[in-house]
Amino acid sequence: MSRRAVIAGNWKMHGTVSETRSLLRGLRARLAARALDLEVVVAPPYTALGAAAEELSGSPIEVAAQNVHWESKGAFTGEISAAMLLEAGCRWAIVGHSERRQLFGETDANVNRRARAALEAGLHPIVCVGETFAERQANRTMDVVRRQARAALLDLGAADIQTLCIAYEPVWAIGTGRTATPDQAEEVHAELRRLVAEVAGTQTAERLRILYGGSVKPDNIDSLMAEPDIDGALVGSASLEVESFARIVEFQL
Ligand code: PEP
Repeated sequence: MSRRAVIAGNWKMHGTVSETRSLLRGLRARLAARALDLEVVVAPPYTALGAAAEELSGSPIEVAAQNVHWESKGAFTGEISAAMLLEAGCRWAIVGHSERRQLFGETDANVNRRARAALEAGLHPIVCVGETFAERQANRTMDVVRRQARAALLDLGAADIQTLCIAYEPVWAIGTGRTATPDQAEEVHAELRRLVAEVAGTQTAERLRILYGGSVKPDNIDSLMAEPDIDGALVGSASLEVESFARIVEFQL
C-alpha cells in the first residue's frame, strides 16, 4: 500500500506575523516549480495563522495549529477552538506534542478529546507520541507509545483514524540533534501500525500515515523516509529555514 507522504513543520513559539509572511513567501517561491506529490504543512503560532493562510492561498502548502481545545467556546482562558482554527485557515492541528505533555500537563485523555474535536470540525490531527530517554533506557518504549496511541485513538472509527496522522517523536530526539536511527524509528512505527491493526483493523492500519519527528534534518530525511513504515516527518527547527525545510520536502528515496 502506498501512502501519501506528509512533511509538517512545527514552528513552536517562533514567528511574528512579518517573519511568518517572509518565511512562507520564500518557501512558496522555492517550492513553486515542483509539482508536490506529498502533503506539506506548516504550523506557525496562533497569531500568525491568518497571515500564513493568506500567504499560502492558492498553494498546496497547508496550515496547521499547534493545539486545539475540545470545547467550541467558553471560559477556557488561553485555549482555542477547532472552529476558530478553521476560520483562520487551518486544515490541520497538532495534538499531544511532548512539550505540551511535559510543560503544560497534557494528559492522554486530553489528547484524545482534542483529536476528537479536531476531527469533528474537519481538521486533520497530528497526534504525537513518544518516550523519554529514561523510558527507552528502561525498555519501556513500546509500552509508552502503545499506551499513548491507544488512549489518543479511543472511540475513533476507521475513517477518523485514516484522517489523522500519528507522529512518533522520541522526547530525547526533540531539539537535541540526536535523531533516532532509521532502524530505531522503524521498529516503533511498525509497532504503532500493529497496534492500530488491533484496534481498527488491518486496512485502517495500512492507510494510516505515521510520521517521525525528532531532529529531522536535510542530511537524515532520506534514510528515514526509506523505511517502509515511515510516511513523513514532523520537523521542528529545520522547518524555520527555507532551504532546509525545502530539502526535507524534497526527500529522495
Ligand atoms: C518537534 O518539535 O516536533 C521537533 C521534532 O523538533 P526538532 O525537529 O527541532 O527536534
